Amino acid sequence: MKGIYYDGKDALYREDIPMPVQKAGESLVKIRMCAVCNTDKEVRKGYRPDFRGVMGHEFVGEVLDSPVKDLIKKRVVGELNAACGKCIYCKTGRPTHCDSRRVLGMSDKDGAFAEYMTIDTDLLHVIPDGLPDEIAIFTEPLAAALEILTQIHIFPISALQTTRYMQKAPLMFARALLYSFLQRETSRASLSKKKIPSSEAATV
Ligand SMILES: [Zn+2]
Ligand SMILES: [Zn+2]
Repeated sequence: MKGIYYDGKDALYREDIPMPVQKAGESLVKIRMCAVCNTDKEVRKGYRPDFRGVMGHEFVGEVLDSPVKDLIKKRVVGELNAACGKCIYCKTGRPTHCDSRRVLGMSDKDGAFAEYMTIDTDLLHVIPDGLPDEIAIFTEPLAAALEILTQIHIFPISALQTTRYMQKAPLMFARALLYSFLQRETSRASLSKKKIPSSEAATV
């Protein structure tokens, strides 16, 4: 099959990549669309020197085969980290710290820049009907943004600063904006939960 393969030195376009074979618990996915993440550029520069294989982790695909029959023919996106389920971190509810985690297109697992890919079925998420591929493709960066909500500090910035931040660190800036938005929504929600005294309520 066709795909983009990292050989330890560069990203190569190949047409002789073997068709992936499903392992127990994996689904076979036909790739419909991919996005290039900054991490892919870093892999190309040697960020994961031991990795050899198909690159890419941001994708929209269609499930061709799966142990979960309801998933077949569904459009899906997927998480990139596959935890082992056996180490101390996995057993204590911290799979993102897993000792031997495989990472799609980066570590011990072929990624999505190819015609077909296999992936742990647990990592798949069905895309709702009506959500186009072009929007669904941003699921993974959005998830990454949500993951660090508690680790950043938001401060007021000007339009000029906004442009500079967007050029320098677009993902970090997206995270910051999202955090700011969610903070506003959260405080709005908690305000609306406050009981309105009956005298005020009568005038609303
Ligand atoms: Zn990414
Ligand atoms: Zn583990």
